[in-house]
Amino acid sequence: MNARADFPFFAVTDAPVYLDNAATTQKPACVLDALRRFYTSTNSNVHRGAHRLSRAATETHETARSAVASFLHAASPREVLFTSGCTEGINLVAQTLALTASVKEGDEVLVSTDAHHSNIVPWQMLCERTGAKVRPIPLTPELQFDMPAYLSMLSGRTRVVAVPVISNALGLHLPVEEITRAAHDVGALVCIDGAQSVAHEPVDVQKLGCDFFAFSGHKVYAPTGTGALWGRESLLEALPPWKGGGEMINQVSFARTTYNRLPFKYEAGTPNICGNIMLAEALNYVQRLSLSAIHRHESALMRELCEGLQQIPDVQLLGGSAPRGSLVSIHVPGVHPYDLGTLLDQMNVAVRTGHHCCQPLMQYLDITGTTRFSVALYNQSDDIQRALTATRKALSMLR
Ligand code: PMP
Repeated sequence: MNARADFPFFAVTDAPVYLDNAATTQKPACVLDALRRFYTSTNSNVHRGAHRLSRAATETHETARSAVASFLHAASPREVLFTSGCTEGINLVAQTLALTASVKEGDEVLVSTDAHHSNIVPWQMLCERTGAKVRPIPLTPELQFDMPAYLSMLSGRTRVVAVPVISNALGLHLPVEEITRAAHDVGALVCIDGAQSVAHEPVDVQKLGCDFFAFSGHKVYAPTGTGALWGRESLLEALPPWKGGGEMINQVSFARTTYNRLPFKYEAGTPNICGNIMLAEALNYVQRLSLSAIHRHESALMRELCEGLQQIPDVQLLGGSAPRGSLVSIHVPGVHPYDLGTLLDQMNVAVRTGHHCCQPLMQYLDITGTTRFSVALYNQSDDIQRALTATRKALSMLR
């Protein structure tokens, strides 16, 4: 696969070797073109407009929702809520649950130790309000999800299980289908964080069987400030709205307000119309390339990267050689990740260093941070080789 030419970002002189894709991705021309097209031909507010432009904007926006639904293999576009990103999606679930009596004192929310802060803090906030408790699910010594420990933690008190498909600091896959089945056996809801998976492998929420699935657009070639939350229709019907305002209502009076049907009940105010249209454009783009082809391409790059890193003295791959997504974190004893990242930057290689919004995981590993390399569909073998050469050189300067 060679799709770099689709990304104007790489046409600039001295474009970096960009291996910070788990933080955010570059955008293809078709997504950038969608912005110009919308604002030069269709721009208008959606819904309620009598005029032609408003109808066209509404239709394009709702077609975008259908595209997201089909990308996720959702049963219906009614189950797709546009959000500003994965963080907002998870907060939506946690905060609407807080408005119901379904989580009470003594209840538990199980969260994997390698979860992102976005999938920890909203649950802690839910627990602060309700008296429930967040319990971390441990990792095995190999840093894999500890299934026996998880199964032993499940009980009638478990209300929610929240895990990522792929952890953003370690890059390891979690057995989300098995996790979901076991959670459902005790009557718990399952909220899956797909932030690190949607750009790299196909997703089928119906097959997964979970209750909620959140992701961010900007990690899958769409703009920042976009994303979606998929929720099971019966749950979205039963839960209350979380934000009040225009669009989420059916009838408003000072005596009584009734709420709109799905999905609008959860979308107060003018949506990010153009952003949501660009999100659909990005999802259509990866589908045109095919997620299986992207997965094959990135897996080959990851093999080359991990083999190369393993050959550098003292470099430890967190999670060892376990199968991983499109990112890898390294730890080099005696070398601060920030120093390594800064030297790599001076050699025009962009990677991410630090705790990756996974401070509880760093505490568990007893390290301050890692250096993370993450690939996307536009990376090529020459990026990997340049990153490996730069890493060898930087480490020889630091030790
Ligand atoms: N979960 C995971 C696994 C992530 O990698 C990220 C982004 N680093 C998030 C959640 C939060 O995404 P956003 O900041 O786009 O809402």
